[in-house]
Amino acid sequence: MPSNNLVPRQLAAPEPTWTVTTDVVILGSGAAGLSAALAARPVRDVVLITKDVLAAGSTSWAQGGLAAVLDPNDSIENHVQDTLEAGGGLCDEAAVRTLVSEAPTAIRYLMELGASFDPGAHEGVALTREGGHSHRRIVHAGGDQSGAEVQRTLDESVRLAGVQVVEKAFGIDLVIGHTKSGVRAVAGVKVAILDSNGGVESVGIVYAPAVIVATGGYGQVYASTSNPPAVTGDGIALALRAGVAASDLEFIQFHPTVLWVGSEATGQQALISEAVRGEGAILLDAAGGRVMAGVHPQEDLAPRDVVAAAISRRMAEAPAGVDDHVYLDARRIENFEERFPSITASCRNVGIDPVTELIPVSPAAHYVCGGVKATLDGTTSLQGLFVVGEAACTGVHGANRLASNSLTEGVVAGTRVGRALSWSLPEIVEPQEVEADGALIDSYHRAALRNAMSKYVGVLRTPDGLEAASAILRTLADNASAAVVPTRKAFEATNMLTIATAVVAAAKARTESRGCHRRTDFAEPLAAWERHLMCRIVDGRVEVD
Ligand SMILES: Cc1cc2nc3c(=O)[nH]c(=O)nc-3n(C[C@H](O)[C@H](O)[C@H](O)COP(=O)(O)OP(=O)(O)OC[C@H]3O[C@@H](n4cnc5c(N)ncnc54)[C@H](O)[C@@H]3O)c2cc1C
Repeated sequence: MPSNNLVPRQLAAPEPTWTVTTDVVILGSGAAGLSAALAARPVRDVVLITKDVLAAGSTSWAQGGLAAVLDPNDSIENHVQDTLEAGGGLCDEAAVRTLVSEAPTAIRYLMELGASFDPGAHEGVALTREGGHSHRRIVHAGGDQSGAEVQRTLDESVRLAGVQVVEKAFGIDLVIGHTKSGVRAVAGVKVAILDSNGGVESVGIVYAPAVIVATGGYGQVYASTSNPPAVTGDGIALALRAGVAASDLEFIQFHPTVLWVGSEATGQQALISEAVRGEGAILLDAAGGRVMAGVHPQEDLAPRDVVAAAISRRMAEAPAGVDDHVYLDARRIENFEERFPSITASCRNVGIDPVTELIPVSPAAHYVCGGVKATLDGTTSLQGLFVVGEAACTGVHGANRLASNSLTEGVVAGTRVGRALSWSLPEIVEPQEVEADGALIDSYHRAALRNAMSKYVGVLRTPDGLEAASAILRTLADNASAAVVPTRKAFEATNMLTIATAVVAAAKARTESRGCHRRTDFAEPLAAWERHLMCRIVDGRVEVD
């Protein structure tokens, strides 16, 4: 089914003025990209391109931790079943089994590299529980600073290993060629070197037989999100423009509880980790009623989609006249301040003391289950293109991610692809394809785009809302032009438009509710929809099938 909306076929950019040749080029420096760099580096020359500073992605913001079976009373089978249960019938069981089986090794590996997880009785680390997990199996660091510890550990290891790191460099589009036997393949990637304001200093091409995209998700296409500003879906848009399919884009996990700081708030909002409910906090509406009582057997620890939908429904009922947030009561948690120092600080920054007061919360875009169709080894349908981490759709998360499986996936998949590329590289290809004309939309369109997505393509989706979002995106696409000045923000805005167009097309096509995709006109899952939707760009339009 083609959408009516056109999207740019290439990003407009100045002519390349330099080239670099390497074995492996990686876009992105979160858990996935850094793990890939580290695993490939002992054997290969590796260039790591990242559009901001190393720690600008979601990884350093992760609070809860990494899921892995380390308790002898737990089992790989339990973790597999919990993941499949959350995934709403769309997980690839083989990929889940591989991830879950390798997760404990990934934790031990991070510890070997110097990661300091909070100490406890299971192989020296403490384990907590999060929504949808039947057992305590979440490894954490610094209380709620787990991602920062993973980022620190991998940053230091990558620098020590001699990976060539280029910060403030933006991966624009793939350079495509053909192998000797005529197979379409990746020859390299076009990169813009940015100045401190995000302007383009120069453009060049990094030639490499292997390009690894590890650019994270696309939470920033929403006005209300827990994701940092760098998470704009660039790598997925780049792959779509290169003719590679993306799958499951409609499945966006809305974290049930980000700190609510007023109805006009936009941009990255502070997360109140699920681990807070894991330690006993409960959700209340403004009239003091329990939000999750009777909704799900696991009540406040139900999977995220269930909790986010229950909150959205309760907000629509507007108890005590409040329709834009509910409350988290964490006052019963002992030593809250020590266990959750970042959350305590975020709350106190806005004048709320979580030790003595209710925390106002609402759902926000948090994690994207979809991405470029790839295996857990990162391979895609395009030779030489590998995609790992949140940018990939490996089938591990299905229609809804189980909490804390994603950092683990980044480390496992990144390491697998890096190791595989150490063993053998794809064939080097000459760049051959003539580039299509490029276009960009101006960065000021980001606000209209993000507001439309939050308003119409959020937790509960209506047919009228999806049509309204399409119409707004179509108007924005009409503004795409080769005359817009290329900057980081314009590249991002154009990528966000491509991603938003694909998300809306997929959300319209999936006429059912499943996992974290909820339609008010099709409230139940349908057996006929127990399948994936693939998005592609064909002749400048997004097609979904
Ligand atoms: C607030 C928060 C809390 C979370 N808590 C948890 C948790 O407890 N457990 C868990 O498992 N998961 C958690 N997640 C999700 C998890 O953090 C992410 O899924 C994971 O870190 C993604 O890792 P990644 O390496 O794929 O991408 P990221 O860490 O997002 O890194 C992407 C990288 O790509 C770079 N980049 C993007 N575009 C370009 C481009 N065009 N050119 C060059 N570089 C580019 C970015 O700058 C960044 O370095 C959380 C996420 C958030 C936002």
